[in-house]
Amino acid sequence: MAERMVVVGGDAAGMSAASQALRLKGDDLRVVAFERSRHVSYSACGIPYWVAGDVDEEARLVARTAEDHAKAGIDLRMRTEVEGIDLDAGRVTARDLDTGEVVTESYDHLVIATGAVPIRPPLPGVDAAGVFGVQTLDDGAALIDDLGTRPARRAVVVGGGYIGVEMAEALVRHGLEVTVLDRATQPMATLDPDMGAKVHEAMEGLGIDVRTETPVEAFETDADGRVRAVVTPERAFETDLVVLGIGVAPNTPLARDAGLPLGDSGGIRTDRQLRVVGQERVWAGGDCVEVRHLVSGRYVHVPLGTHANKHGRVIGHNVAGAYATFPGVVGTAVSKVCDLEIARTGLLEKEARASGFSFVTVTVDATTKAGYFPGAADLSVKLIAERRTGRLLGAQIVGREGSAKRIDVAAVALWNQMTVTDMTSLDLGYAPPFSPVWDPILVASRKATAKVREAT
Ligand SMILES: Cc1cc2nc3c(=O)[nH]c(=O)nc-3n(C[C@H](O)[C@H](O)[C@H](O)COP(=O)(O)OP(=O)(O)OC[C@H]3O[C@@H](n4cnc5c(N)ncnc54)[C@H](O)[C@@H]3O)c2cc1C
Repeated sequence: MAERMVVVGGDAAGMSAASQALRLKGDDLRVVAFERSRHVSYSACGIPYWVAGDVDEEARLVARTAEDHAKAGIDLRMRTEVEGIDLDAGRVTARDLDTGEVVTESYDHLVIATGAVPIRPPLPGVDAAGVFGVQTLDDGAALIDDLGTRPARRAVVVGGGYIGVEMAEALVRHGLEVTVLDRATQPMATLDPDMGAKVHEAMEGLGIDVRTETPVEAFETDADGRVRAVVTPERAFETDLVVLGIGVAPNTPLARDAGLPLGDSGGIRTDRQLRVVGQERVWAGGDCVEVRHLVSGRYVHVPLGTHANKHGRVIGHNVAGAYATFPGVVGTAVSKVCDLEIARTGLLEKEARASGFSFVTVTVDATTKAGYFPGAADLSVKLIAERRTGRLLGAQIVGREGSAKRIDVAAVALWNQMTVTDMTSLDLGYAPPFSPVWDPILVASRKATAKVREAT
């Protein structure tokens, strides 16, 4: 008899797991997937570019439709929310959100891929009309509709993380005067403050008003209940609309209520195969789990699509009886605001310190192409290396077009526990349109090597 796989959550992690398991097991597996929204296998990552106008329609952000999955043999129940898991009985209870009908499904393998929920601070006015999230395609559609139907001159983005800065660009490209409010000392708190300061300065240069150490206290509304200003301790910022980009938290009430283990970051705790700790037939992946950071050794919540897709593939293999693992992350992320690119991997200074490392840092300013080549633009590379051993601990890059993906070299170096001295000999590609003859990563590695020697 065919085994039964039940998937909760129909996006990157859940549907990758379902598709992979089905590819390997074929008729020996029956897959039922529950998705509470109207969308399946969609790219939230593309929402800022859809709002900006780079992507012309919602359908282009959907990798596979419900019909595609049905054709592949997945029994996909849209607009159906799983409300409970009975681990002993091996069964879930789900409610059809349109008809109210409740069904139960039993499983041999359960995959929890419930993603993350956006943080929405309980501030006065946060639910007013004109305050938008950007987590789902419906959020994106609501914002695009608003931009297309109401005249707007000013926008406030709350949160200067990567979603906040990407949304700032999208709104600038609609011709709006954009203010970004962030409670931290610099935007992009995923960078060290000195690199965040470069982002801050460059964003101001793009015409974006960036206010740091500015926590939001409330949203003022007009007589129609629509947001008209964002209130901070110093002053109120008048606006025509607000976008919230404050971050996300793992969506785990379902798992927690079932008695599954959560870690310090609030994510579900799994082993390397992504089997939930202490469970034989329950798996979890994507934004709802925490993962091991391979540099710090700590468990962290890193909600990124790149991991969610890999998790799904790993789970699919394991459900099908093959063997696959997800060893962990080194914390690589890239982003951009207009032509300014931002990248990081590994540990920040404060994270390295909290993990007990003693380290040196170097920052070099260089160019994206040979200095004489048309279009050569500025970039800064920062490296963090362990004192004495010279092991690379982290890297950050801020620069113009052609900068961000250089971080992948540092990500591979971290993955392989290379030292900055090893990195100085890397055989990186060179031609004037791509890089100076000494790639900025090589220059930074050389400088870091010298500093490690001095500090020994
Ligand atoms: C604006 C934006 C930009 C981003 N940009 C990037 C980027 O550039 N690079 C990158 O790597 N990542 C990016 N991400 C993050 C990326 O989108 C997520 O990491 C990824 O979508 C996580 O996939 P997931 O399957 O774990 O969760 P989700 O995509 O959150 O999917 C979970 C699904 O589960 C459903 N669900 C939840 N609970 C239940 C339930 N009880 N019953 C049924 N269904 C349920 C939800 O409706 C949802 O569809 C971005 C995210 C946003 C919002």
